[in-house]
Amino acid sequence: MKGSIKIDREQCKGCGLCTAACPKKIIVFSDKLNKKGYYPASCDGQEAKEDSTAECTGCALCAIVCPDIAIEVYRE
Ligand code: SF4
Ligand code: SF4
Repeated sequence: MKGSIKIDREQCKGCGLCTAACPKKIIVFSDKLNKKGYYPASCDGQEAKEDSTAECTGCALCAIVCPDIAIEVYRE
């Protein structure tokens, strides 16, 4: 299955649970602070590995562990 995710960078508190939970390790931290003062998780292909979106399986583990409901998962 192929998937992709969208992370709401302003909702994210940078806790790192999603980066640890992702079996593909394609979620990384942004080097730019959000408005709350956290370095948010990112998987947009710029801060993450270039082929990150291609590797996402849509398993949704990242979204399940996120305490701030900042991740949306899309499946194709
Ligand atoms: S849906 Fe699964 S593979 Fe895709 S980013 Fe989240 S944890 Fe990783
Ligand atoms: S689990 Fe949620 S709040 Fe924590 S770093 Fe990931 S997106 Fe941000």
